Amino acid sequence: MSTAAALPGVLPAPVAPGARSSPRARTLLDRAADGGRLSPDDALLLFREASLLELGAAASAVRQRLHPGTVATYQVDRNINYTNVCIYRCRFCAFYRPSGDPEGYVLPLEEIGRKVEETLALGGTGVLLQGGVHAELPFSFYEELLGFLRREYPGIHRHAFSAPEIYFLAKKERTPVRETLVRLKEAGLMSVPGGGAEILEDGVRKRIFSLTKAPTERWAEVHREAHALGLPTTATMMFGVGEGYEERVAHLDVVRRVQDGSLAAAAESFTAFIPWTFQEENTALDGTVETSTGFDYLRTLALSRLYLDNVPHVQGSWVTQGKKIGQVSLFFGADDLGSIMIEENVVAAAGAHNRMTRADMEALLRDAGFTPVQRGSVYERCHEPCCAGLNAG
Ligand code: SF4
Repeated sequence: MSTAAALPGVLPAPVAPGARSSPRARTLLDRAADGGRLSPDDALLLFREASLLELGAAASAVRQRLHPGTVATYQVDRNINYTNVCIYRCRFCAFYRPSGDPEGYVLPLEEIGRKVEETLALGGTGVLLQGGVHAELPFSFYEELLGFLRREYPGIHRHAFSAPEIYFLAKKERTPVRETLVRLKEAGLMSVPGGGAEILEDGVRKRIFSLTKAPTERWAEVHREAHALGLPTTATMMFGVGEGYEERVAHLDVVRRVQDGSLAAAAESFTAFIPWTFQEENTALDGTVETSTGFDYLRTLALSRLYLDNVPHVQGSWVTQGKKIGQVSLFFGADDLGSIMIEENVVAAAGAHNRMTRADMEALLRDAGFTPVQRGSVYERCHEPCCAGLNAG
């Protein structure tokens, strides 16, 4: 939907494509490209006064400083949505089914095993386990799932359970988040995905889902505690749900502050930031907000690279933006295009059906002038025989 001019979320028109940034914005862009830290007010000014191409150039300079050369990475993994049953009814979600719904499911371990075997056969190195928040599954379900994967498929990385799932388990078990993570880690958890971040500003969160799912501070707590326990995590942002630039900047600031703390005192930290755009089809928000354009996506991606000076990787979202904008994202601060997505159900339910093979991904990166390198779930470079040739350079 793109024409509903009066809908919430219509952002003030930024600098027109091709126009120059304001002098104040140019000064900030130069500073950020040289490694200077932007304040929240600086980021807001850039959202409003920096041109698309100059934002991209500054973000590219930062990306080159952090990751010199032509390598761009990707991953072969599979999203396994072990259940779609969820106690929440997020207005942006087309994936969940309420308890008792005939379309609700919980995958048996044998089926999860079959999915892992297919992933391994395709050269995959990890799985991302994420569900709805199923109120009736006992804690032992999560322990058995992780234990099964560790025992049967020790070579596959277990990147699992978003902050709202972990926060819910902690509440249900009446144990602190830290203890919940300790138990999951002992069962085989290796890293935590950044899902459930949406927009880390409680006013927006209240509007698009129930705050009981995880207020901003609880999302941050899960990641802080995971880092302290030696579990790397990622951070995401789903934007274009009617928020303003202020809320996007507030989100970036939460991520940067958590990362500052973790880098100073924890064993692990965020490996990457993954911004992506809300997909509205089949959701309760459909038709009620002005969703993001490719132009808005690229500006926000570049701003993210500039603001998050302490997060090593920024991922381009070909899954929500399509392959062509995925390529362009590599010139707006992204150094990685994420997974080829052997399976993805959540954004597919909301209308994004982009798919790719490993060969497609490599061709895409090469055609954009980059050298494709497969990496693992926590951005380690893959050294399996199938990837050795790719990684030699
Ligand atoms: S986004 Fe997650 S928590 Fe919200 S309804 Fe969907 S599955 Fe449930």
